[in-house]
Amino acid sequence: MTIFPLPAFNDNYIWIIQDKDSSGIWAVDPGNADVVLNFCHEYQKTLTGILITHHHKDHTGGVAELKQHSNCPVYGPEHLTELVTHPVDDGDRILVFSKVFTVIATPGHTLDHLCYFSEQETPILLSGDTLFKGGCGRIMEGTHEQMLAAMIKISGLPNDTLIYGTHEYTLANYRFALSLEPNNKDLIESNITCQKLRTEEKPTLPTKLSIEKKTNPFLRSHIEALKIQAAQQLNEIPAENPIAAFSQVRRAKDSFS
Ligand SMILES: [Zn+2]
Repeated sequence: MTIFPLPAFNDNYIWIIQDKDSSGIWAVDPGNADVVLNFCHEYQKTLTGILITHHHKDHTGGVAELKQHSNCPVYGPEHLTELVTHPVDDGDRILVFSKVFTVIATPGHTLDHLCYFSEQETPILLSGDTLFKGGCGRIMEGTHEQMLAAMIKISGLPNDTLIYGTHEYTLANYRFALSLEPNNKDLIESNITCQKLRTEEKPTLPTKLSIEKKTNPFLRSHIEALKIQAAQQLNEIPAENPIAAFSQVRRAKDSFS
């Protein structure tokens, strides 16, 4: 199984899952149908299935048109009745080629957000807008408590899990991360690597969970020095409570420029 991105819009990635024994492909969050159709046409591929992480238009905008072309199954949040043919929720399993993906509900960015995890030789997490390299999604519908719970769920996955987020936000995320942890060597190093990748117009994703644990402020809101910096940016007192501390990091990012 290989996974690679098709860029869409300004900074979205439509992840394509391909299997060497199949002429079919799966698309994750196809916000734009043309991007996927052009790829299928150029490489003689058939769309076999679609996974949706949440309802936002930049993740679902191409689904209706793609269904008309291929009539493939669409897995995603239950309430998207117009688009989803196979509604799924936390703990459900989906077979993508020969690999099982388990649905992990991660409300926070939206209430319906789902991630898809596959335990294989190199474990894979399709994290949508929940976790990015160096950042996490804005909390638009859920609560800070829900988003922290999502971060904790993801932290519990194997350390070598490759994480496929949907946006190329890494350099902006790292500017904020470095404002909190200017001396974090792993962060400094990863920032340099990613700057080089972006200069070459290459994606900085996927990322690895072990790297995120060392660099992503939203998986590190328990670190004392980081908490102090986040609170300082907000002119607040550093929170003791883990949810309040996470909330300070999230709100500091929201107002960071
Ligand atoms: Zn979104």
